[in-house]
Amino acid sequence: MREKILADLRAPQRLFINGARCEAVNKAFIDIINPATGTPLTQVQAAESPDVDLAVQAARHALTDPAWSDMTPQAREHLMLRIADILEARAHELGTLEALNNGKTLHEGVGDVGPSADAFRYYGGWVRKLYGQTIPVDGHDLVYTIREPVGVCGLIVPWNYPLLMAAWKVAPALACGCTVVLKPSELTPLTALRLADICKEAGVPDGVVNVIPGYGEQAGAALAKHPDVDKIAFTGSVATARSLLIASANSNLKKVSLELGGKSPLIVFPDADLDAAAKAAFWGIFANKGEVCSASSRLLVHASVKAALVERLTAMANRMKVGDPFLPDTEMGALISQVQFDKVMAYIKRGIDEGAELVAGGERYTEGQAANGWFLRPTIFTNVQPQMTIAQEEIFGPVLSVLEFENENEALQLANSTIYGLVAAVFTRDISRAHRVAKSLQSGVVWINRWNGFDSGAPFGGAKQSGWGRELGKHALDLYTQTKCVWVKL
Ligand code: NAD
Repeated sequence: MREKILADLRAPQRLFINGARCEAVNKAFIDIINPATGTPLTQVQAAESPDVDLAVQAARHALTDPAWSDMTPQAREHLMLRIADILEARAHELGTLEALNNGKTLHEGVGDVGPSADAFRYYGGWVRKLYGQTIPVDGHDLVYTIREPVGVCGLIVPWNYPLLMAAWKVAPALACGCTVVLKPSELTPLTALRLADICKEAGVPDGVVNVIPGYGEQAGAALAKHPDVDKIAFTGSVATARSLLIASANSNLKKVSLELGGKSPLIVFPDADLDAAAKAAFWGIFANKGEVCSASSRLLVHASVKAALVERLTAMANRMKVGDPFLPDTEMGALISQVQFDKVMAYIKRGIDEGAELVAGGERYTEGQAANGWFLRPTIFTNVQPQMTIAQEEIFGPVLSVLEFENENEALQLANSTIYGLVAAVFTRDISRAHRVAKSLQSGVVWINRWNGFDSGAPFGGAKQSGWGRELGKHALDLYTQTKCVWVKL
């Protein structure tokens, strides 16, 4: 499988516009690097402003083309179920591509495909359930609402879960009858392009799904300021989110939804099941190399159990198998790029300089085949103080900051003391405390006695500077529809 994929990648990968692969107008290229080897994987054509125009034109035309706009809800549902089936049937191929392009383990890459397929299946189920309401009013009128597609959607996604982040946006957009222009990260465009091929194979009409790999400042910015794009759905950093809002304000006030970063706390009280808490805290930060928006990057632990918990975590970190993403027992692959690696190393240095205590990892992993990849040992800091940089800023890598507290109030104060509010967790056997703390956490999601609960049906998104709007669940339908209210004089 891997050899065949690598052979296919020898040819430069082209854009996907109006139902077909095509050359970029300016013939610009992006070199795609395998993070585990540091060597070129393939080249991808880079979309620039003229390509964005073509993709938006195709999406605009498709929006009112009867092939899409008159497709019955039942047919649209079946189409989405077919996409889900094809994704699942190709799980190994897509997972391999993701591992080669992102550096995550093959296991993680294949693991991303199931929830991606499930997003299409789940939102396929919504197509026939998107009804409006009849509203009693003061007068002799019949008043009803219709939920209409919001229009042409620009979808801008990051590199950490390239296929899954695309699926979380494309699936609800299609369910609502929108058309899309998807801009994957310049680092990881390969599975997004495959998703476009799969949509075509499933029977999605031309122009409904377009995929334009390209640099953020070029393709992304052109999409964000395009006057014929009705909505931007974005997952990525706070800095980029600001530029998207400015672009919207300066163009056509397109709607914007945002899934941004986090500095998420996992709080452990003294009565918690410490083994369960250690496991959750460990995988919460080290899964997918810590390149996870919902990573449990801050462990807040009661002083009385801190030593016991840190001991467990350090032992697990020292045992963790880092290296070749394709070996079956590898638990952590390579960071996405040299740039990201350097950024994470700079945070580690900052942590040491500011006085935190490094108790695991902190250095590059270079054994054997890993010598040229961007591998890092799982890293743990204790004695982290709340004002330190590594307690405040999102590192987006395998670095855990451990802070201690003495009581519930202090735990809450620490938990809520960053600009972010994406997810949080509380570990305790005290049911009242669990719900009390959940209520007071400034966070879009709270997990009690677990980490990383995700389901297509459960809303996900952030409070404070972690985002606007909620993806997944029926909440995402609000992002891709607008309500029309119709009055009939009786
Ligand atoms: P990023 O903001 O640099 O890039 C994200 C996407 O935006 C990429 O496709 C990029 O090309 C594009 N982009 C960059 N500059 C742009 C511009 N000026 N105009 C338009 N588009 C532009 O983020 P990243 O480094 O790729 O991803 C990491 C960030 O994403 C982290 O902060 C992480 O927490 C966040 N993230 C959040 C979630 C979530 O669901 N909340 C999920 C994954 C990642």
